[in-house]
Amino acid sequence: MDKRKINYKLYPSQSQSERLLESLRLHQQLYNAALQERIDCYRKTGKSISYNDQQASLTQIRADHPEYKAIPVYITRMTLRRLDKAFKAFFERVKKGQAPGFPRFRSLSRFSSFEMCGGSGWAFIPEANGKHGRLSINGIGRIKARGKARTLGKVKTSQVIHKHGQWFLSVTVECEPVRACKGQKACGFDWGVEYLGTVTHENGEHYAIENPRYYRDSKESLLPMQQAVSRKKRGSNRWKRACKVLTQARAKVARQRHHDHHQLSHDLAKEYTLFATEKLTIRNMTRTAKGTLDKPGKMVKQKSGLNREILDTAPAKLLAMIHYKVEETGGEFVEIPTRKAKPSQRCPACWEVVKKTLSERTHQCDCGCTMPRDAASGLVAIKWALGLGGNSPNAGHSAKPLLSVA
Ligand SMILES: [Zn+2]
Repeated sequence: MDKRKINYKLYPSQSQSERLLESLRLHQQLYNAALQERIDCYRKTGKSISYNDQQASLTQIRADHPEYKAIPVYITRMTLRRLDKAFKAFFERVKKGQAPGFPRFRSLSRFSSFEMCGGSGWAFIPEANGKHGRLSINGIGRIKARGKARTLGKVKTSQVIHKHGQWFLSVTVECEPVRACKGQKACGFDWGVEYLGTVTHENGEHYAIENPRYYRDSKESLLPMQQAVSRKKRGSNRWKRACKVLTQARAKVARQRHHDHHQLSHDLAKEYTLFATEKLTIRNMTRTAKGTLDKPGKMVKQKSGLNREILDTAPAKLLAMIHYKVEETGGEFVEIPTRKAKPSQRCPACWEVVKKTLSERTHQCDCGCTMPRDAASGLVAIKWALGLGGNSPNAGHSAKPLLSVA
C-alpha cells in the first residue's frame, strides 16, 4: 500500500471559520501547556513525562476547562502526539551528538495547523469521482472542500491548515495506484534553461517543453513586488504590507508550479514506458540564471535572484513526480550516471566522446551525425538506458524489458 497526500481547499462559513480559529487557539494552548508540564516535571523529579502520562492528564484538562470538550478527544490527543514527536526528534538528535533546539513554545502565528487521525469526531468524505468532498468535525460542522484526488484510497490522517487567512486540508490516504500508459515509447529528457527541457525519442525525433506560463509571467510580476519591499523601511507598516503582497504572490507561483508539474508528469507518464534522464546533481539541478555548466544563461545578474526563487526546488520535485507516475503505469524511470555516460559530450550515433564547448548548441560528429545538442544528449540517455550503446562502456548493460506495461 502506498501513501499519498491530497490537498484540498476548505470553504468554511464565517461562523465555522471562527470556530476553526478557536479550535486552533485551544490546540496551541494545549501544546504549550503540555510542553510546560514536561519541563516542570523534569525540574521537579528529574524524570521525563511520557505521552501516555500526558494523555491521562487530558481527562483532567477537559474536566477543568469545558471549552476543550467542544473538541473531539481524539483530535486533542493528536496535538499531544505532535509534542511527543518533537521531543523524540530532539532526543534522537542529541543522541547523534548534534545540538538541536529544545522544543519551543509556539505563538498562535507559528501554530498553523492541527491534525486528525483515526478515532471518531471527524470524517472526510470525498465525492465518488475523487473531486472535492466534505469535511465534518464535531463541534464545527460540515465544510465544503475543493480539490482532486488522483487516486482514491482509505483516508488515514488529515491536517487542517490555516495559511494566509485561508483554510486548507491535507489528507493522507492509503491506496494502490494503478494507471494506464497509452504509449509504448521510450524517451530521453534533458533540462534546458530558456525552456524547460527537451524530450527525445529513440529515432532521434525531439521536441522542447516550454517553460510554463507562470514562470514567464511571474518573472515580470514578482520583480516590482520585491523592489517594493526593499524600498520600504524594514519593520514599518508599509514594509509589512508589501511583504504580505509578495508572500501571497510567491505562494501563488508555488501552487501553479505544483499544478503544472502534476499535469506535465501525468502527460509524460501516459506517453512513455521508459523515461531516461541524467541523474540530478546539485550542479545540474540548480537552474539559476547561470544555467547549467552546459547551458549558460543570459543576463545572469538580473535574473539570478528571481530564478533561484522560482526554479531551485523545481527540478527535483518534477522528476520525483515523473518517477512515481511512470512506475505507476508499470513503466521504468532510469537515471543515467552523468560521469560515466557523459550524455552531453557523447555522440549518440557512434558513441564516441565528442568534446563540445559551452556555446556549441549543435552536436556535430565526424561520423556524420548532426543534431541539436540537447536532443543528442537525450538520445544518449535512452540508448544508455536500453543498453544500446554499441561498443560503449555500457555494452552488456542489461536493460530491463522496455515494454513492461501490464
Ligand atoms: Zn559520431
